[in-house]
Amino acid sequence: MTDEATTVRPARLLSNANRNLARHRIWTWTLPALAARLPDGRTVRTCEGAGACASLCFARVGSYQFPAVKARHIRNLQFVVDDLDGWELAMAQELSHQRFRAAAVRVHDSGDFFSDEYLCAWLRIMAATPGTRFYAYTKELPRFRRLVEPKSPPNFRWVYSLGSVHDAALRPGDRVADVFAEESDIAAAGFHSQAECDLLAVDGPAPVGMSANALPHLKRRQGRRTFGQLQADQDGRTYRPAAFRTIDHA
Ligand code: SF4
Repeated sequence: MTDEATTVRPARLLSNANRNLARHRIWTWTLPALAARLPDGRTVRTCEGAGACASLCFARVGSYQFPAVKARHIRNLQFVVDDLDGWELAMAQELSHQRFRAAAVRVHDSGDFFSDEYLCAWLRIMAATPGTRFYAYTKELPRFRRLVEPKSPPNFRWVYSLGSVHDAALRPGDRVADVFAEESDIAAAGFHSQAECDLLAVDGPAPVGMSANALPHLKRRQGRRTFGQLQADQDGRTYRPAAFRTIDHA
C-alpha cells in the first residue's frame, strides 16, 4: 500500500463533462477500460468480466485515449489501488456537496468493479449518501451475486451488460443490457432503448438495448451481431435473447 506521498490525487473525482448525461444531472466516475499500466509499471485489470466486448470497447479508442483523458483515468485507478481508504473518504466527502443532492452518479463510464474491496467501498459510499442515486452497467456477475444482490443500498441499481465471460451464468429475470449494431435493431429484438436518457438502463423497461459506437472499424468488426450474440458465439452457446424478456425489473 500506500505511500501516500507518491499517490497522485485528482482534484475532483466525479465528472459532468458528458453533455448527454449532464442534462439529466448524471455525474460519472471513470477507470481505464479493460486494463492499465500504472506509472510504476504495475498492470491492473479493471474489467475482469470483459469478454467479447473487449475488442469492440468504445473506451479503448477515440477521445478516451487522448493523453489528458487517459492520464486522468489512470490517476483515478492509481488512487483506488494505492489508497482505497483515502479514496473512499475523498469520494464520500465530494458527494456530500449539495450539487449531488437528487442527482445521479453513473459508477464507471468505463472500467468495472474489479475487486471485492473496491465494490464494498462503493457500497459503503452509497449507503452513506442516501440523497444521491447510483447506477452501473456491470459485467461482474459473480461478484454482484455474492456481494450486492443479497443486500444492496436502496439508492443503487444496476444492469448486467452482455458481452461478458459470465453471460452463460445469467438467469431469466436478470436485468440485462445488450449493445446493438444499429438503434433500429433494438426494438426489433424486443429490447428497449436507453438513448433518451441513460437512467432508462435501470429505470425503464427491460431488457435494455443501446447502439454501438459509430467508429467505422468497430462497426465493421461487430457486423449486425450484438455483444451478447458475439459472446454466445465465442462460448459455443446459442444466443437466446428471448430469455431476458420474461421478467421486467423496472
Ligand atoms: S467491460 Fe466495458 S469498459 Fe470494460 S472492456 Fe468491456 S466494454 Fe470496455
